[in-house]
Amino acid sequence: MQRLFGLICLVLIAIAFPARAEDRLNVVASFSILGDFVRNVGGDRVGVTTMVGPDGDVHIYSPTPADAKKIADAKLVIVNGFGLEGWLPRLVQSAGGKASIVTVTAGIAPLTLGSDADPHAWQSVANAKTYVGNIRDALVAADPAAAPGFRANADAYLAKLDALDREVRAAVAQIPESRRKVISTHRAFGYFAAAYGVEFIAPVGVSTESEASARDIAGIITQVRAAKIPAVFLENVSDPRLIRRISAETGAKVGGTLYSDSLTGEKGEAPTYIEMVRHNIKALTSALAN
Ligand SMILES: [Zn+2]
Repeated sequence: MQRLFGLICLVLIAIAFPARAEDRLNVVASFSILGDFVRNVGGDRVGVTTMVGPDGDVHIYSPTPADAKKIADAKLVIVNGFGLEGWLPRLVQSAGGKASIVTVTAGIAPLTLGSDADPHAWQSVANAKTYVGNIRDALVAADPAAAPGFRANADAYLAKLDALDREVRAAVAQIPESRRKVISTHRAFGYFAAAYGVEFIAPVGVSTESEASARDIAGIITQVRAAKIPAVFLENVSDPRLIRRISAETGAKVGGTLYSDSLTGEKGEAPTYIEMVRHNIKALTSALAN
């Protein structure tokens, strides 16, 4: 009888406190790319939700009541910083809760455009490694018991990023130097350009918030013709009409879509950061290599 009672107690405890859910660290990431990094480092020990999901535009996001709830329930909120999530401070303040805010660009020197920092630091794989290191340290601090797992996951993922960085360099090396220049919609590839030596020209600034003026567009069209820029690219977070117009007026071909600020859904071309970078270098080399 006593044994039966003990057994029933154990079953009740197991129902009331499912081990996994109880162990999991609740983490919210501001947008899909950061969510992917957290998943890779956190593994099973971390429950990750993202605010700006696949194909969403983090520059002009409007938080929902569901986001406030996610933040109120979270232990960590992972953000890019460099002015990317202008909508976040108010959301955190209104949500309450005890979440620590972790800025993953800590330790990276920002590129600037006038007085604005360029937030797209993840487009250099070396910077992505800094992001991953910062995420690992934040997870370890939040859940020291799970530290060995977080460290092992981070090491394995960092090794994949090293291989990815080599892949990008090898791909760019296949493109003749005079053809390493493209047009994309907004200035999202400054860090990629600086790291890998492909020139990007964009009619829209570092945020998608602004629109290109008629003068900006005319300037780009002149530039494409004068510099014989071979290809223009669409983005999943920007209106395709501008790029199609530049292509029509200059004869530069549309080289496909580059993913800058957002992953796609699972069935899309860029469901993870690594697949996103691979897709982009493939699109660039197939449009630019002779
Ligand atoms: Zn952007």
